[in-house]
Amino acid sequence: KEEDASPLWEAYELAARYYHHLLMNTEQGKEAYDYLLNRGVTVEQMETFRLGYAPNQPRMLKELLEKREFDIEEMVDGGLLFRRESSWDIYDRFRHRIMFPIHNAKGKVKAFGGRSLGEQEPKYLNSPETSIFLKHESLYGIHLARGPIRKKNQAVLFEGYADVIAASGAGVTNGIAALGTALSERQVQWIRRNTDQVLLCYDGDEAGQKAAWKAGALFEKEKVNVQVALLPDKVDPDDYIRKHGSEKFKKDILNSSVSITSFKMKYLRKNKNLNNEGDKLAYVETVIKEIVKLPGAVEQDIYLRQLAEEFSLSLDALNEEKERLARTRQ
Ligand code: ATP
Ligand code: MN
Ligand code: MN
Ligand code: MN
Repeated sequence: KEEDASPLWEAYELAARYYHHLLMNTEQGKEAYDYLLNRGVTVEQMETFRLGYAPNQPRMLKELLEKREFDIEEMVDGGLLFRRESSWDIYDRFRHRIMFPIHNAKGKVKAFGGRSLGEQEPKYLNSPETSIFLKHESLYGIHLARGPIRKKNQAVLFEGYADVIAASGAGVTNGIAALGTALSERQVQWIRRNTDQVLLCYDGDEAGQKAAWKAGALFEKEKVNVQVALLPDKVDPDDYIRKHGSEKFKKDILNSSVSITSFKMKYLRKNKNLNNEGDKLAYVETVIKEIVKLPGAVEQDIYLRQLAEEFSLSLDALNEEKERLARTRQ
């Protein structure tokens, strides 16, 4: 439960305003500003998502918080500041990073994701969990996307903050992202309360496909209809939009998404050498197991036919196998 009375709300709001100001209006923020422009992030997007810059100095935010008479211990516990164990000195947690404020559904800032500007690790540093921030029940972009999700009756789920922002520039305003962790049941439940249709648009690498598979399973459990958008290998939605533009992204990626079952069939197939009879049988069996789970007879029929055609098998045999597996499932 988020504690409404926590002083952290005010502190995070102050920090967000401060970081945003540094990015938009100061010489210090220029490197970050140019970096974002170079990545195709527009000034309008910087405003909409309230992007910011945390300066490359040890105690800028700390001094501001002190001046505003915040309790510094509370700010350490709250994740804005940070104490080195070796020294007792207190520093700003985020330094020389692009700041992505993470909002609750009502639009209040409760945490940050900070992306390093250069090559420093980690690439993304997130706020720690606090009394107002639980990772597994947060989603990036929900305060902006909730209305559009309800209106379009669909949520588009991305892996990264940058993807949500790039997609919104392409007019995809119903996009959200988990915070770099696997999707949780709580996040799925929040989405389920707002829509029963999800489009997964994860990065086109092995990790992204694995994550899509797992997310798909969670949504299926909650009876959410899942479509999967397929990206080329090693390309994420942000890269794709930058390279090919919004229209092509919408046409060739989002509007060319496939059902979760087709996605699974493709995915299972990709990692198997199906020239071998044993592997082929195992693949067919695994796919039928997925087909058995589908609620509609027509749906089941569509995929069984695809399978029959692909491997020159008789539909009758596949149906029989399906019936057998359906019985053992009871
Ligand atoms: P960019 O385009 O800026 O390199 P990205 O969004 O494509 O970033 P990914 O590497 O695809 O980054 O990671 C997706 C998401 O996972 C990020 O948006 C972030 O939330 C999270 N993430 C990535 N790296 C880390 C990390 N080292 N620690 C914590 N979270 C991370
Ligand atoms: Mn502004
Ligand atoms: Mn990515
Ligand atoms: Mn990226």
